[in-house]
Amino acid sequence: MVLTGASAVSSARLKALRAELAALAVISPGNSGGFATVLPTEPMAVGRWALGVADINWAVVSSGLDFLESAVDHLAKGDERDLRYGALHVTAAIEVLLKAQLAREHWTLVVSDVNRARRAEYETGNFHSVTIAVALERLRNVAGSSITEREVSRITAVEKLRNRVAHFALHGENPRRTEAVVAGGLDVLLHLIDREFLPDADTAERELVENTLDLVRVRLGTIAVLIRERMSSLKPELDSAPYPVLTCPGCSQSAYVLGDGEPGRCAYCLHHPFGEAAADEYVSSVLRLNSYEVSKDGESWPVHNCLNCSAEAFVAGVLPVDGTGDDRTVYACFACGYSCTDGDVDQCHRCGVLTYRPEDGLAVCAECTAAWMAD
Ligand SMILES: [Zn+2]
Ligand SMILES: [Zn+2]
Ligand SMILES: [Zn+2]
Repeated sequence: MVLTGASAVSSARLKALRAELAALAVISPGNSGGFATVLPTEPMAVGRWALGVADINWAVVSSGLDFLESAVDHLAKGDERDLRYGALHVTAAIEVLLKAQLAREHWTLVVSDVNRARRAEYETGNFHSVTIAVALERLRNVAGSSITEREVSRITAVEKLRNRVAHFALHGENPRRTEAVVAGGLDVLLHLIDREFLPDADTAERELVENTLDLVRVRLGTIAVLIRERMSSLKPELDSAPYPVLTCPGCSQSAYVLGDGEPGRCAYCLHHPFGEAAADEYVSSVLRLNSYEVSKDGESWPVHNCLNCSAEAFVAGVLPVDGTGDDRTVYACFACGYSCTDGDVDQCHRCGVLTYRPEDGLAVCAECTAAWMAD
């Protein structure tokens, strides 16, 4: 029987798997056997314990995200010991996500010698899996992956660091360099999740990614070395963004790109709440207004119905990030991405709602115009 998705492995079973994984990642980095860093080493009796291919793929993804969360924690703490764990866990996360990506093409690609791949061995974890280098090669050659040379070299750097940690050889290493290598690995990992993993993810996998990112989002936005590494790798994308870039309400980095007919998204932390929620988050987290204070002062909450899509997600007083788009932009819709300047908007002269400013004469909103026509 092949189960799929979240229902495939019970949560208790996943917890147990994760605990073993965490232990394994510390004591046995490398690719000695099967999913050594992913699945328990004890051979599982077929029928009672063996996992189907779909279960394994799910467990792999789940453990990869667990390692991601742990890597962020360690990097955020940033002392020497934490950086060692950061190197172990970010490498493990990259490794298992690369394998998960390969398994999506075909499970045999995860096996080091494809010609000797046996399904029963795969399902019991009793096989030699590919190294990171081979996984990268197969992904690029067989699966048409878009992983760049620069990403490969950053992955290689963090893997080398992991190996030195594993062999207790990390002495005399400059901690700032170690930190930058781990942050570089984490940056690539987030790029891979965003660019390679999410587009083909099913609902359960997507949810797992979202939940993990929700857990680490605020911390992601506070790790100085990661901000430096990641903002530099995102620079070309942000510089050429066709829509205004705002401060992300989730991670507070200058990387939230307004959408094109849809809600925007943070390139840094991948946050993409739906329009109305995003607008409220932006007003509270970035503009730092709270509804109590606003009403106490007799002001109104600066979220209006969008002139373009009518969703209640049109924020007045947005602050575009320096050097992106039209810096006179003061209105932006978090649902459809429509943005404009003060000169484009006026209050309806009859009912007071925001509406397009007419070339001349008084502004009247569509509803008041319709009511007036009907009279
Ligand atoms: Zn963000
Ligand atoms: Zn809109
Ligand atoms: Zn009106």
